[in-house]
Amino acid sequence: MGRLCFLERPNVAIGDDSGVPARPITSLPMPRAGIVTVVGKPNAGKSTLLNRIIGQKLSIVSPKPQSTRDRIVGIHTSGDVQAIILDTPGLLNPKYPLQHAMRAAALAALNDADVVLYLVDGTEPIEPLRDVARLELPVRAPTITVVNKLDTLSPARLQSMRDELADASFVSAVTGAGVEQLLERVAALLPESPFLYPDDEIATQSVRFFVSELIRETALEQLDDEVPYSVACEIEEYRESQSPVYIRAVLHVERESQKRILIGAGGQRIRAIGRAAREKIEAFVGTPTYLDLWVKVLPNWRRKAHMLQRFGYTVPEDLSS
Ligand code: GDP
Ligand code: MG
Repeated sequence: MGRLCFLERPNVAIGDDSGVPARPITSLPMPRAGIVTVVGKPNAGKSTLLNRIIGQKLSIVSPKPQSTRDRIVGIHTSGDVQAIILDTPGLLNPKYPLQHAMRAAALAALNDADVVLYLVDGTEPIEPLRDVARLELPVRAPTITVVNKLDTLSPARLQSMRDELADASFVSAVTGAGVEQLLERVAALLPESPFLYPDDEIATQSVRFFVSELIRETALEQLDDEVPYSVACEIEEYRESQSPVYIRAVLHVERESQKRILIGAGGQRIRAIGRAAREKIEAFVGTPTYLDLWVKVLPNWRRKAHMLQRFGYTVPEDLSS
């Protein structure tokens, strides 16, 4: 990713002849910016937390679906601080080839992190990240254990967890409790750096990415266990200049049989997916939307490096050769 410098500020005072090294000018703080990688078991509440954090500034959310190394979920800019938030799907319990492919990306995201947030569900027993993620080496970046679902914890449970995990942050991604304090903790751990991204150039791409994720999510909600991992969503056309906004999207599956399942008898299921997805999209973009949704078969796309790349997944070495 390119480092873009927008803020030119002196961060060092001009030295004098006293032999005392110049010191940073504290009254003109450098901005802070860096990568925050979020890990956690499924259902820990990662998506909910990420939505809460980035939802405050949707216009500057910037995922990078084409990236071959990591997936940017969002950028949270507040005052002098910019946190680029990476998600790590597939880090834990990879079961399918695609998930194995994603584990490499997740490990890279962990490696690149300036701060790691290890999100755990407060209602469940808590295990160390290194065990859960089967990491060979400890995580290099400072790691904050974030206990989520604070709203459901009894005072007794909360107290015993606070005793056990003195360094943890406690949040509720649903109510937002503790999230501001967590962001302050994160900000203090980020390195001094100019902002890495502008906040306007990237809005359209991010909206497209989120729209495709919303459609995929909706399809997964309405499907049984077998098909979901075979579904990829691609936005073929996105016309914002008209009302309603026109979006043509394709759900790609691997086999004809999956296509039949997705379409359903008389097209019932795909219509239901389209309706539900459109409602989510409208809530997300805030304008009336026309969603033109198609289903296509791309045989075995999960096994083909160029297809994985096309859908924004990381391609591990052994697949790309
Ligand atoms: P992910 O798999 O880690 O991305 O988890 P999700 O964000 O999808 O959340 C899993 C479930 O936990 C959903 O039903 C959420 O509504 C719920 N959830 C997430 N955060 C909280 C929270 O702070 N409190 C409560 N009560 N439920 C939560
Ligand atoms: Mg999730």
